[in-house]
Amino acid sequence: MKCEYCDILERKSTADILYEDNEVIIAIKDFSIAPGQLTVFPKQHFTIMEMVPDDIIQKCFVLANKVSVAIFESMGAHGTNIIVQNGLGAGQKVPHFAVEIIPRREGDGLNLQWTPKELSEDEKETSYLLIKEEGDKLVDIGKKKEKKEVSPIVTEKISGLNGKDNYLLKSLKRIP
Ligand SMILES: [Zn+2]
Repeated sequence: MKCEYCDILERKSTADILYEDNEVIIAIKDFSIAPGQLTVFPKQHFTIMEMVPDDIIQKCFVLANKVSVAIFESMGAHGTNIIVQNGLGAGQKVPHFAVEIIPRREGDGLNLQWTPKELSEDEKETSYLLIKEEGDKLVDIGKKKEKKEVSPIVTEKISGLNGKDNYLLKSLKRIP
C-alpha cells in the first residue's frame, strides 16, 4: 500500500527531514497549510493513534512540543496548532499516524477555529454515560502515573521560577 509518510522514510519523496532516530522522524512536507509546518511521525507504519505504543506516543508529543518551541523562536510565530487527524472522519488523508505542528500568526487567515455550541442537558448526559464506562479505565492509568516521584531537577526548576530566565514568563510574552 502506498503511504506518503513511508515514502518520506524511504527517501522516495522530496520532503526535508529535520530529525530522525530509530523510532521517529520530523519532516517538512512538500504540501503544507503554512510555511514552517512540521510533521512528527513514528517510523513504524501505524494507521491510527490507537495502534501506537505509549512510549512512541509520548516521544511524538515531546518532540512536537520541542518543535513548537523551535517554531516560536525561529519564525516568530504567535502560536502553534498541534493537530492529530485520527481516522477518516477526522479528515485523515495519509494512513499513517502523525502529529502536525502548524505555526500561527494573528490574521493569517487559516480557518482552524471552531465555535463551541452549548450542549443540551440530554446531549451532555447521553455522551457522559456512553463514555464514562470506557473512561473509568483511565483512572487506573492515571493513578499509576501519579505514583511516580517528581524528579529533583523538576522541583528545582519550579522553585527557581523567580530567576531572570523564567521560562514561564518568557512564554507568556508570546500571548498577544
Ligand atoms: Zn506509512
